[in-house]
Amino acid sequence: MRKILPGFLIFATALNISAQKNDTTGYQKLARDIFKELIEINTTFRYGSTKAAEAMAARLRSAGFSDSDINVIGPDEQHKNLVLRFRGQGKLKPVLFICHLDVVEALRSDWSVDPFTFLEWDGYFYGRGTTDVKNDDASLVANIIRLKKEGYKPNRDIIIALTADEEMGNANGVNWLVTNHRDLIDADFCINPDGGGGDLKNGKPVNMAIQTSEKIYLSYRLEVKNNGGHSSLPVKDNAIYRLASGLTRLANYDFPVSLNETTRNYFKNVASVESGQVKSDILAILTTPPDTAAANHLEVSSAYYNAMMRTTCVATMMSAGHAENALPQNAQAVINCRMLPDDTPENVIQILKTVLADSKISVTQLNSSFNAPLSPLREDVTKPVFQISSSMWPGVNVTPVMSTGATDGRYLRRQGIPVYGVSGMFGDMDDVRAHGKDERIGVKEFYNGVEFMYRFIKALSSENN
Ligand SMILES: [Zn+2]
Repeated sequence: MRKILPGFLIFATALNISAQKNDTTGYQKLARDIFKELIEINTTFRYGSTKAAEAMAARLRSAGFSDSDINVIGPDEQHKNLVLRFRGQGKLKPVLFICHLDVVEALRSDWSVDPFTFLEWDGYFYGRGTTDVKNDDASLVANIIRLKKEGYKPNRDIIIALTADEEMGNANGVNWLVTNHRDLIDADFCINPDGGGGDLKNGKPVNMAIQTSEKIYLSYRLEVKNNGGHSSLPVKDNAIYRLASGLTRLANYDFPVSLNETTRNYFKNVASVESGQVKSDILAILTTPPDTAAANHLEVSSAYYNAMMRTTCVATMMSAGHAENALPQNAQAVINCRMLPDDTPENVIQILKTVLADSKISVTQLNSSFNAPLSPLREDVTKPVFQISSSMWPGVNVTPVMSTGATDGRYLRRQGIPVYGVSGMFGDMDDVRAHGKDERIGVKEFYNGVEFMYRFIKALSSENN
């Protein structure tokens, strides 16, 4: 971000006025006010989410929601979640929206401006959480208040859960709610804006994601033990060499390409925007069986494409030996795997043992795996996303995606509630500032995202869908 001079603050105020001039309904101002309030409540791990949950509850109460439909609850005083139920006609099972309230730490000394003071400047809103993910918290609250004021009668209950501890901590709100208060959030399916969103390329909307699944985090410890001895009398059977040889075999190994409904659709979509060798490689992995040579090229050209098409396991830590002048008695490495949602830990460990090809290398799983199945692409969710996106951003490429990292959706998928990452908030794909310095969202992109969510909530809860 360019250095902000005091004069620009006056300019920023002028911009606010001009943005509000086009706000014919007043709901843009409402969304902006809520956004500002949320950014200025520090919800990093040190402070917790309760204050923000209560602030949103107060807004909902004054908008006319009854106390019995607003719950501010959590495992302790600091980590409360807000759950709102907008009662509908009960024609379908409820739809749930989840969105985390907590944000990653941001230090004033690292930023060009105060991360916890909402600032509009030069076409952007600045502040910690402007993209991850208080923008969508604000959008959900503003839209639900708007729908209430407009007298909207949804055909099903709409549940909104703004939650704690997504970024870090042991009080994850989604996990806590589904485990302890499933009745409050039980739903036909869930929308998680944190897993969705759109990409701008040179300021132009190009891609919009529907996240249906995520890879599963699994770590293993590899260990070789040996009697050791004096380093002046070396023998061929050495713990470090054995482990290193096994790791070299693993480094040269690739797990099989395995596409699911989501990644197959994803690659079909990206093939249409790629060109040259990458495009022909993508087309070749879409055949049955997938072309291994093409997969090997693709692995070299893009770590992301590689992670999308297979389970991966990579060495991340290593330690060995106990003295400079002793043969090592122990050598250890940690392998971090990101498993495809339809793969199993049993299969992964079996493959690891086969590839390491040394019975002296023991393999121990370090964490329990999280079985979160892929959510099937369903028309009642995807159709409105396509329709609204193509009317708001003609030509945008709407594509299902599997996250290579983890989101809160996994806690619900594991419990049988399908989850779709969908958001109308767009950001520059070459300037992602979530978790980083001077986080910001375009003013226009924020208001468009709010409008998208307004139409999307209605589409999911009205007759003609
Ligand atoms: Zn997030």
